[in-house]
Amino acid sequence: MPVPTRVVFGHGRITQARAEAERLGMTRPIVIATAQQADACEDLARAIGGLAYPHAVMHTPVDVTETAVAFVRDNGVDGIVSLGGGSSTGLGKAIALRTDLDQLAIPTSYAGSEMTDILGETEGGLKTTRRDPAIRPETVIYDPDLLATLPDAFAATSGLNAIAHAVEALYAADGNPIVTLMAEDGIRALAAALPKGRAGHDEALYGAWLCGAVLGSAAMALHHKLCHVLGGTFNLPHAETHAVVLPHATAYNAAAAPGAMARIARALGADDAAMGLHVLSKSLSAPLSLKEIGMPEDGLERAADIAVASPYPNPRPLERAAIRRLLDDAFHGRPPA
Ligand code: NAD
Repeated sequence: MPVPTRVVFGHGRITQARAEAERLGMTRPIVIATAQQADACEDLARAIGGLAYPHAVMHTPVDVTETAVAFVRDNGVDGIVSLGGGSSTGLGKAIALRTDLDQLAIPTSYAGSEMTDILGETEGGLKTTRRDPAIRPETVIYDPDLLATLPDAFAATSGLNAIAHAVEALYAADGNPIVTLMAEDGIRALAAALPKGRAGHDEALYGAWLCGAVLGSAAMALHHKLCHVLGGTFNLPHAETHAVVLPHATAYNAAAAPGAMARIARALGADDAAMGLHVLSKSLSAPLSLKEIGMPEDGLERAADIAVASPYPNPRPLERAAIRRLLDDAFHGRPPA
């Protein structure tokens, strides 16, 4: 399996950011973050001689990207450094796609975007994804020290977001034995590490790396499709949406992907994959219902329509009535069925 990204992993590796940026020929990079991580963004920009740009937002809206691209062109920027979760990485990728600049990604959540050639962008209330080699960051620095400020609740949902990448890689039509190995160990590592809180940061980041890598190597299916619809059209928070939907999407595919289910269950130390994921979410106090994360009930019909209109390949064919039931169960926070 190709892993064309250069990866630097370990405590304190953030101190190598300047050297890694220079290795890519950057002399005046833009340093991207969200407003919530503006201070860390300013510090990093100072340390590497870059320009702080703490204006990334979730789901990569195209208008935000266009403003950032104008900033890049007006300021002689020659490289992209993204610091933060998937929102920062997403803006970095969107700029790279439009400018062909290199990227150094420094993730601070478990979203996994840094290891993929996937970009999801939102425009006119719809999130569309595309894959392109130009989207994949050239270099990634994983430093567990950066997780010290990660709020516990977000660590849990972000970790479940990572597990979702591995779950879908295990039943992807284009999977392979190495992807399978990495996916199963990614789930195992995260399921073991997340309940430990801070003591589990190192192992969780290792798991997130594996999960991001398999997302970047295999196709996405129903689970990711549903989350893209719910995030892009209803602006639901990304990681929380993944956490709620994952047990339900897993249950939907259970009978069609028994081999994947056995591996997921084994990685979780559970008897059943979907129930094991549900129990893990509960033990982490992650949200269990779409209702509690802002989904309007009258949007469920529309969500089902969009999900089946342009489906991703999936082990079990998409049946609208069953998808609508899945969304209803997820909305109310029922156990997966
Ligand atoms: P996020 O990047 O929006 O982060 C959520 C919040 O937590 C932000 O305010 C962020 O600044 C803050 N945060 C992140 N790490 C922190 C830390 N260590 N300390 C303190 N605060 C921290 O959320 P996310 O779930 O990481 O990413 C979601 C976005 O990533 C979505 O837009 C999603 O589509 C995209 N994504 C893309 C891919 C891909 O392969 N294309 C994969 C996963 C996620």
